[in-house]
Amino acid sequence: MSSINVSSTLPNPRIINHYINGQHTEGTSTRLSDVYNPATGELQAQLRNATVEDVNTAITAAQKAFPAWAATPALRRARIMFKFKALLDERANDLAKAISLEHGKTISDARGEVTRGIEVVEFACGAPHLMKGDFNDNVGTGIDTYSMHQPLGVVAGITPFNFPIMVPLWMIPMALATGNTFVLKPSEKTPSASLMIADLLAEAGLPAGVFNIVNGDKEAVDVLLTDKRVQAISFVGSTPIAEYIYSTGTKNGKRVQALGGAKNHLVVMPDADLDQVADALIGAGYGSAGERCMAISVAVTVGDIADKLIAKLAEKVKEITIDHGLNEKADMGPLVTPQHYAKVKEYVDLGVTEGAKLVIDGRGYRHAGFEAGFFLAPCLFDDVTKDMRIYKEEIFGPVLSIVRAKTFEEALQLVNDHEFGNGVAIFTRDGEAAREFTQRVQAGMVGVNVAIPVPIAFHSFGGWKRSLFGDHHIYGTEGIRFYTRLKTTTSRWPSNSKGGGAEFVMPTMK
Ligand code: NAD
Repeated sequence: MSSINVSSTLPNPRIINHYINGQHTEGTSTRLSDVYNPATGELQAQLRNATVEDVNTAITAAQKAFPAWAATPALRRARIMFKFKALLDERANDLAKAISLEHGKTISDARGEVTRGIEVVEFACGAPHLMKGDFNDNVGTGIDTYSMHQPLGVVAGITPFNFPIMVPLWMIPMALATGNTFVLKPSEKTPSASLMIADLLAEAGLPAGVFNIVNGDKEAVDVLLTDKRVQAISFVGSTPIAEYIYSTGTKNGKRVQALGGAKNHLVVMPDADLDQVADALIGAGYGSAGERCMAISVAVTVGDIADKLIAKLAEKVKEITIDHGLNEKADMGPLVTPQHYAKVKEYVDLGVTEGAKLVIDGRGYRHAGFEAGFFLAPCLFDDVTKDMRIYKEEIFGPVLSIVRAKTFEEALQLVNDHEFGNGVAIFTRDGEAAREFTQRVQAGMVGVNVAIPVPIAFHSFGGWKRSLFGDHHIYGTEGIRFYTRLKTTTSRWPSNSKGGGAEFVMPTMK
């Protein structure tokens, strides 16, 4: 274990505020919630939960800033994004540390998260090109038609605990570079890193009011969902909340993209290299303690390879270094809160009750020196069946289930019948099987011998079925479309009036 001091508890826990109109502010909130250090189990900060008035103030600031920001040439907005990207590079380590201290994930994983967020900023720097419209001259005699993509206005983002930098950066650079102003409501469990984003944007030259943060919970979210000035909502979180956000936001006339939960399967074909598969499952199942929406939580073995694979997994699990996130050598840290720890552990208990075979039991694990931390060691279930709740529901912890299928068709059917359709992977050496799988599988992101197929920033991220509510995936060209409205202009410039009189028929181009 490393000697880094991971305790950031002060005698009176630090208070986390809001960021509105270019200022860090307490707002009017008196309701506080707890932010833990998951490794030590200590309370390390308290968060102010925004009131209706605080959220109104943030929306007003964003609304006021919108006309000037929208009128700023896209190239100048992009230059601020370039500076922002350089600052993110410079402070990547501080950001990763802030993530790790509140989330518990390892610092190396947190750096990876920051990098994936930076890639979206890089993409957004191309907004002047990406926002280009179409032009046709002479669509009728002396008539030209052109289209443009214009910003929506004030847009809001509501983000989950598990990627405190990357997920906000799926939204913010895309929205700002296209000329919108933004109100972010980060997760109440991991709020500090987004406040660092606010400071870096200001340092990069972003005018006050263009980007705002309200910390808090449902009270704050409900204002964003119902206030008429908010034009669009981007949400990432669990499925029940995603569905609520989508239905409430759209009912209130907003454009909504709401990304939800997942149960990602990895199908192992009989011809797959089982060492590669075992490595992939260990990383994708237990990395970030399974708290990733693209984590693999189900391995579907095809044919009779399950016993061999389980033997390899059992060996590799022993090599996982569990420690607090600031240990550079750690592979896996604790879960995020005591409530989440209790929930994941209850799922493991449930799996046993449901009759699945618990081959590796991480429930009794206590981390020496960090006994109060929320550490749960890897758990592995065999003989999981599709009627079990541990198969149907998202656990979001270091719990991997093996489901045995006889054939490729049975494996594919399992994936396609599942409620969620976020990511999926197939491991095989057979190109035909892989192609068949990618064509027929019902999921938004597919990996072929890649366990976590998170698309790069110049593609877009999103699931199918109950993993996404809305029409657009997030970031990439889908992000440009989501944050802009199409306007098409048809124009002519007649030199003098020929006095042709009014036309009463539907205009056709001559
Ligand atoms: P969550 O749904 O509990 O919270 C997400 C956000 O919604 C937070 O900001 C939270 O404050 C807010 N919220 C919570 N309850 C609310 C309510 N009743 N009304 C209004 N707002 C509410 O999710 P989480 O626990 O923070 O994150 C984990 C979940 O996010 C998992 O289900 C995971 O799969 C999902 N996730 C999905 C993706 C994806 O891209 N599909 C990415 C990351 C995480």
